[in-house]
Amino acid sequence: MAEEKRQFQAEVGKLLDIVVHSLYSNKEIFLRELISNASDSCDRLRYGAITEPDLLAGDAEFCIRLIPDAAAGTLTIADNGMGMNHDELIANLGTIAKSGTSEFLARLTGDAKKDVNLIGQFGVGFYSAFMVADEVTVVSRKAGEAKGWRWVSDGKGEFTVSEAPEATRGASITLRLREGETEFTEAFRLKSIVKRYSDHIAIPVRLKEADKDEETINSASALWTRSKSEITPEQYKEFYHHVAHAFDEPWSTLHYKAEGAIEYTGLLFIPSSKPFDIFHPDRKQHVKLYVRRVFITDDCEELLPPYLRFVKGVVDSQDLPLNVSREMLQHNPVLAKIRSGLVKRVLGELKKKAEDAEGGFETFWETFGAVLKEGIYEDFERRDDILELCRFRTTHGDGWTTLADYVGRMKEGQDAIYTITGDDLAKLKQSPQLEGFIAKGVEVLLLTDPIDEFWVSAIPRYQDKELRSVTASGADLSKVKAPEGAEDKAADEAPAGEVTTLIEALKLSLGDKVKDVKVSERLTESAVCLVADSGDMSMHLEKLLRAHGQ
Ligand code: ADP
Ligand code: MG
Repeated sequence: MAEEKRQFQAEVGKLLDIVVHSLYSNKEIFLRELISNASDSCDRLRYGAITEPDLLAGDAEFCIRLIPDAAAGTLTIADNGMGMNHDELIANLGTIAKSGTSEFLARLTGDAKKDVNLIGQFGVGFYSAFMVADEVTVVSRKAGEAKGWRWVSDGKGEFTVSEAPEATRGASITLRLREGETEFTEAFRLKSIVKRYSDHIAIPVRLKEADKDEETINSASALWTRSKSEITPEQYKEFYHHVAHAFDEPWSTLHYKAEGAIEYTGLLFIPSSKPFDIFHPDRKQHVKLYVRRVFITDDCEELLPPYLRFVKGVVDSQDLPLNVSREMLQHNPVLAKIRSGLVKRVLGELKKKAEDAEGGFETFWETFGAVLKEGIYEDFERRDDILELCRFRTTHGDGWTTLADYVGRMKEGQDAIYTITGDDLAKLKQSPQLEGFIAKGVEVLLLTDPIDEFWVSAIPRYQDKELRSVTASGADLSKVKAPEGAEDKAADEAPAGEVTTLIEALKLSLGDKVKDVKVSERLTESAVCLVADSGDMSMHLEKLLRAHGQ
């Protein structure tokens, strides 16, 4: 078959443009990305070979080779993993199948520093090769298939695909280095980059220098199997970048071995910055499942509940069978136990951080609180633990408060925890609904995440205190004593007869637009406000649903 010419998908073209023209601060990471892909590909083949041993065709010793050629000005990264066939080369290296691509592109700022971070999160991995290369050639043969293929591109909108009879199993990526990038053929430079970014890769990375024997230049043992005392913070961080496709610092690192009825190792990270797709419906989860060091899947929904989807890392089980299929993972009792262990550990870690004044818990809360709150109504069993972790804005000062602190400040005669929901903190604070509460010194929680509507209506109580919306008509402050010195509003109440006449007049003129018109204690300055009937949905929820066309 002759050479086939193809266009990159428009989004790829745009990304490539940014990669080549704006990302120059940290070029060396291209090597990490290509080694990471090679390692993923070996992992995939190792897993595939469990049920289909013929795929290995006698070559079961996985490795990743770096072959620099200073004279030619090229660097080749070759693996003997799963490889790609004709269609996969086109799909994987010509399009971006990830969710949220266009949103992501819209968020790029043009500021190289910030964009590198975004791109790291987004994972343009392979395309980073074009930071240092003006031409990239991929020669690949897929395990179990006879034909090999060559993919070539200069990263300027087009690529070609043609047959490559010389291809061996796996993929070999050759970079024709740009002028000025020849340092990437130097052994010393390559070794130091691999040590820095890819030491934790479980597959040996070998360097082939001209006239020398091949040399393994990484530790080649899975990081999570090493003991904690042997791992530096820097190594944890690089591993986090590898598993999470991230560039930020992990906010928290959790590495432990569970022993007893169920044995597994967990190496989990909580990021410090919010992934762009955290609220995207088809986002991927990022905890990879291994069984006795063999990669099984990075798409196991059962491993963690959705409200902990910000957690990244690796779980390596001793108890699952190696040939566990994705179907077997659903409703698997071992996995269910691992999941419950993971949830307990993560919530325990959050609790510890929350109790530690130096733990930076409020920063975590500002980043992921809205996600964690989903757990309040999704995880009945852990509801109380999660509620203890929750932080709220309040009419009591500008900081965050816990429910426990709120309860500690409740007024004599106050029988409920009062909340108000809306989408803007500043506007909420001005709400006329709050006037009566503020006058009586009754604290109100100001809830501004969309998710708040759902859990406040789902949970009736915290401890023995009812949660009640200030916009619901059941809110009764008559039993709460006004603070000393506050003027007694009741004293200048209008004569009952006049109020009745006014109410009748209002009812008549508003007609069907309202259910009822009542005298209220909730206002001090404003003349009137709207409230929802008890049992009806709150006004903010009504607005939210209407905005979503319900
Ligand atoms: P990601 O690794 O996040 O999926 P990349 O841009 O790094 O994104 O790679 C895109 C895709 O190309 C990979 O998902 C994989 O399917 C394929 N790919 C890249 N490198 C290799 C390789 N060495 N062997 C096999 N497939 C590869
Ligand atoms: Mg990659």
